[in-house]
Amino acid sequence: MNLILMGLPGAGKGTQAEKIVEKYEIPHISTGDMFRSAIKEGTELGKKAKSYMDDGALVPDEVTIGIVKERLSKPDCEKGFLLDGFPRTVAQAEALESLLEDLNTKLNYVLHVNVPEEKLVERLTGRRICPECGATYHVEFNPPKEEGICDHDGAKLIQREDDQPETVKNRLNVNSEQMKPLLDFYDDKGYLVEVNGDQDIDVVFQQIDDKIGGLA
Ligand SMILES: [Zn+2]
Repeated sequence: MNLILMGLPGAGKGTQAEKIVEKYEIPHISTGDMFRSAIKEGTELGKKAKSYMDDGALVPDEVTIGIVKERLSKPDCEKGFLLDGFPRTVAQAEALESLLEDLNTKLNYVLHVNVPEEKLVERLTGRRICPECGATYHVEFNPPKEEGICDHDGAKLIQREDDQPETVKNRLNVNSEQMKPLLDFYDDKGYLVEVNGDQDIDVVFQQIDDKIGGLA
């Protein structure tokens, strides 16, 4: 069961990833985790990646792909994996294809958790943070008992700069422009599965489960 999970910020990708790995017992491989563990283990590629990151530079594809290869070669990936945050470009997707071929395996599905952008804006701009204790709320999905006030300490909740509508729209646009060629690439290959993410968490998971259940 070799899967890629894609979706814009706020689409609920993280929640679905948790459900998938819990039910199917495959590792959730996010780019961030992969880099952190390669650096911690002090592998050659980890050291290279760290030197770029320390300089504030982008880690080149050959290093990133090497790290992905090391990770996917580990024994816990024998039953499959759920990749999240990689690939980000068509060039990386092509490299992943040949990497998997080297490992004598291939992708099964690319799951795209799709939520209309205006709904994402609603979800992402509704977040409120307590400046005192760091608790997070959502005006619609997880409101405090009293509007605008932290349940724990009575502090006045704030909206982070990152969650302001204009910033959110910009971030979504950038992400969506970046993701589109990848979706087309995987659609052409026949891997792409569109998941309607604009529903209850459990209904969204049911769609995914119906699709990937046959692989287990
Ligand atoms: Zn608080």
